[in-house]
Amino acid sequence: MVHDKLRESCTVDRPSTWSQAKNSLISPLYLTTVFGYRSSSELIAFNERKRSEKGLRDADYGRYSNPTEQAVEDAIAELEGAESALLYPSGMAAVTSTLLAITLAHQAVHLIIGAEGYRKTREFADNDLSRLGATITYIAPDELPAIEQYLQPTTRAIFLESPTNPYLRVADLNLLARLGRERGITTIIDATFASPINQKPLSFDIDLVIHSATKYLGGHNDLLAGVVAGRGDLIGLLRERRGITGTIAAPDVAYRLLRSLPELELRVQRQNDTGLKVARFLESCDAVEKVWYPGLESHPEHEIARTQLRGYGGVVSFEVKGDLETTAQFLDGLSVPTIGASFGGVVPLIEQPAVISYYHHGAEKRRELGIKDNLVRLSVGLIDPDALIRDFIHSFSSLMRR
Ligand code: PLP
Repeated sequence: MVHDKLRESCTVDRPSTWSQAKNSLISPLYLTTVFGYRSSSELIAFNERKRSEKGLRDADYGRYSNPTEQAVEDAIAELEGAESALLYPSGMAAVTSTLLAITLAHQAVHLIIGAEGYRKTREFADNDLSRLGATITYIAPDELPAIEQYLQPTTRAIFLESPTNPYLRVADLNLLARLGRERGITTIIDATFASPINQKPLSFDIDLVIHSATKYLGGHNDLLAGVVAGRGDLIGLLRERRGITGTIAAPDVAYRLLRSLPELELRVQRQNDTGLKVARFLESCDAVEKVWYPGLESHPEHEIARTQLRGYGGVVSFEVKGDLETTAQFLDGLSVPTIGASFGGVVPLIEQPAVISYYHHGAEKRRELGIKDNLVRLSVGLIDPDALIRDFIHSFSSLMRR
């Protein structure tokens, strides 16, 4: 009896019961790795559908798909205005799977990748994609308006972060989408720093948007995941490859991500407000050399940000007046944010890129990559902005007294 019931709600020809079991208010967590069939004829019918419907999502095995994971993919596709979305076990799995699929789909491949961005993306392009024969042009934020001159007949994709890590530089998505359309180049934006609340790149006609869902989407500093959303044909290609490489997120991660999404807007709006307030405060501080925040008039792409972003986010980068040691002392004098990598979660985090992510690069390589010793990246979290500002005043004052 119990078995009959279970089988009824888990058969492959009932996708509607997969994502909404009976009257369950919350989409259930399916931990099963296998979905069974009532008969061989049902299995054959499923195989036939698989043959005729390219990219069919129903699956009989957890490496291909799972209803909990499908529920979160549907929610993200809706949030981004995408034809389809795919969930990965990390942001890097989403980034590398996308770039690899594009590289493998062509004989000759030239890629344009943002020079400023998450260092592991660049490492992957330098080490792995180059070995596969892809040629890569890195373009700096200042070169973006003239991007057309870097295009080649074999340019297959333009991949940019916007805003970038760590200086929060902003790309003109109208320009990129137009180039992509005119030249048949796939345009991809890693919009992790914007979140779908502050920007929906697909609404500008960008082909694919990527997020490290570890950041704002998950938002609670307790899960690692990545998503790609966009054009149905491209997502179909990625889905097929994901079934082979096995880079699907675990159902319990999908469940926690699904739970984080309804409050995403609240969290991001609060972080937008705090980010702007703290950025303005920092800009008024004598102990601060420069603030990098797209919401400030002093930001190089403020005009683009003002018209293309709906909020400026909860990350503020700034340069402390002084050297590596002075900056480290400033961080050590703080008690509200925790020193740690990552951003976009509820817990305030602060880092000095030269000492954390780029420590092993050495001073010369850091200079080459534009990572300054006195640079600090703050993720404001959901703390009271005044508590953060008081903490900053306290630490800056201690520095001055030294
Ligand atoms: N994209 C951006 C812009 C990031 O900042 C990061 C990580 O910090 C990633 C991708 C990779 O995400 P994950 O850590 O979830 O693999």
